Amino acid sequence: MGKQSELIEASKKHLMNNYGPPIRAMVRGELARIWDADGKEYIDFFAGFGGGGITGHCHPRVTAALQKQAALLLSHGNFFTNPNQIELAQRVTSHAFGGKVFYCHSGAEANEAALKLTRLYAGEGRYKILSFHNCFHGRTMGGLSLTPENKQKGFEPMLPGNVKVPYGDLNAVRSAIDSETAGIFVEPIQGEGGVNIPTPEFMQGLRAICDEHDLVLTCDEVWTGPGRTGRWFGYQHFGMTPDVLTLAKAVGGGAPVAMCIGGPRVQDTLGPGTHGCTMGGNPLCTAAALEAIKIMEEDHLVERTAAKGEQLMNALRTANVPAIQAVRGKGFMIGIEIDRPAKDVMNAAMEAGLLICLAGTNIIRLAPPLVTPDADLDKGLEILLNVLRA
Ligand code: PLP
Repeated sequence: MGKQSELIEASKKHLMNNYGPPIRAMVRGELARIWDADGKEYIDFFAGFGGGGITGHCHPRVTAALQKQAALLLSHGNFFTNPNQIELAQRVTSHAFGGKVFYCHSGAEANEAALKLTRLYAGEGRYKILSFHNCFHGRTMGGLSLTPENKQKGFEPMLPGNVKVPYGDLNAVRSAIDSETAGIFVEPIQGEGGVNIPTPEFMQGLRAICDEHDLVLTCDEVWTGPGRTGRWFGYQHFGMTPDVLTLAKAVGGGAPVAMCIGGPRVQDTLGPGTHGCTMGGNPLCTAAALEAIKIMEEDHLVERTAAKGEQLMNALRTANVPAIQAVRGKGFMIGIEIDRPAKDVMNAAMEAGLLICLAGTNIIRLAPPLVTPDADLDKGLEILLNVLRA
């Protein structure tokens, strides 16, 4: 029995089974490469569901920032602030629409904050939130309420007043709004739902409807931001601006950092005592996130991702592999529709040394870290095409 199989067996005894049994035990990473407990190396186009998204695994600058901060101060509670959380908020909001930040650790938590902000802004009697078919907004009761019914089974009743309409259908949005509606949650590109890209007209239409009815428009950019789509934020592809932006995964540089950013209209809605998160914005995790954002700025990773993502998608489209039915995406958020179960391809790719992600039964999702070296992009593509040709 290898070290890895021992760890997997032990995990079954000690970890809840909500993710199913682990398929590998991971022990080490370096940018876009990761190693399992038996020493097998993988190119990582999965990046922990996008969580290692900007700087990949153990970027030397992020590691150094964490080591330095670990010797200074780890946490302090939120009656206090620290320089890292202030500079991080200033830098991230400067690439969006200004505004103010609430810190937490996960995408679901950032969306909970946005939900509470929306209800508070809307005032008494306005509580309904619109979201979209095939969306995903997290696993807490609030996020789950916004997410499609197939993930809610056994956890009902959900929050009252959640209405789901088809993604892209502005008429359905208009018909679903009434005097009790408080806001709309939308992913600027749906991730879990299959890498679905909306039209600018749809996204701009949502903005117009929210303005007309004084609704709070939240863009859930837990997958799409920052940088993944070749723009700082996904909404920037569509010529509109939301009121609230939620970020997690990539923004932490590998550490658990999430942000709910309120734009000027709603930034002061969550007043003292309305919300909180004990470890949110702690100096340790924000040190990693801050360094990742600085690397993004200095190394022009947003522009690189736009260019390299286009190259990768073109290579997939022109590879002449019959299994590939369609390729869509922006930057390093790429969906490949295939003619066979995506799970089989994911498993075969893993055996061949490449980690990839799924979005539904027949869609592969690629999410390389933004720092992935050219050689690893080429190698990952070669492995994937070989698996799809087999
Ligand atoms: N929102 C979106 C768009 C997501 O893709 C996810 C997770 O995949 C979440 C929210 C939940 O994030 P977390 O798992 O960090 O709670």
